[in-house]
Amino acid sequence: MQILLTEEELREGVAKMATSISECYANNPLTIVGILTGSVVLMADMIRLLEMPLRVGVLQARSYQGATTTRGPLIINDELMPDIEGREVLLLDDIFDTGRTLKEVEARIRRFSPATVRSAVLLYKEGRQEVEMVPDFIGFKIPDEFVVGYGLDYEDAYRNLPYLAVLEEEDLQST
Ligand code: 5GP
Ligand code: MG
Repeated sequence: MQILLTEEELREGVAKMATSISECYANNPLTIVGILTGSVVLMADMIRLLEMPLRVGVLQARSYQGATTTRGPLIINDELMPDIEGREVLLLDDIFDTGRTLKEVEARIRRFSPATVRSAVLLYKEGRQEVEMVPDFIGFKIPDEFVVGYGLDYEDAYRNLPYLAVLEEEDLQST
């Protein structure tokens, strides 16, 4: 595997995002909604850098079928979401690829009548977007490669890598 972002680079990028988020919300109460499962590592690091009054919730978004690029319809499970009516909400996800996931999740979230909805992603894959939406906070822009680590998986493996790596052909057999 080829390392794309080291632990140190990730730490710096997340800290910069946290600073922008803090400046945006000042000391207003915020609800962060992490999109499972890819955002768990980012969420754990991010929330500890934020000092405003903070609530944390999760929802799950997944597409049918497991493999790398082929995607089925999106399934959103919002049963674990906290009450967000009238609240400032920040959606947190691992990666913005086509953008379809975040766009659909945002539409779902708006049904619960939050005061505001913004979004933050660790990674933004360049040249892949299929929707108008642009995340409000972006950690890193990366080239169009399949990446794993820091929460991102290949068939549910590799999420625990502390760095971000590009998955290569020979890694595909070893999960
Ligand atoms: P989108 O809906 O923006 O096309 O895709 C977002 C979701 O696709 C991410 O939350 C992630 O689960 C998955 N995804 C997109 N690109 C990658 C990638 O390079 N690596 C991994 N592990 N997942 C990806
Ligand atoms: Mg994901």
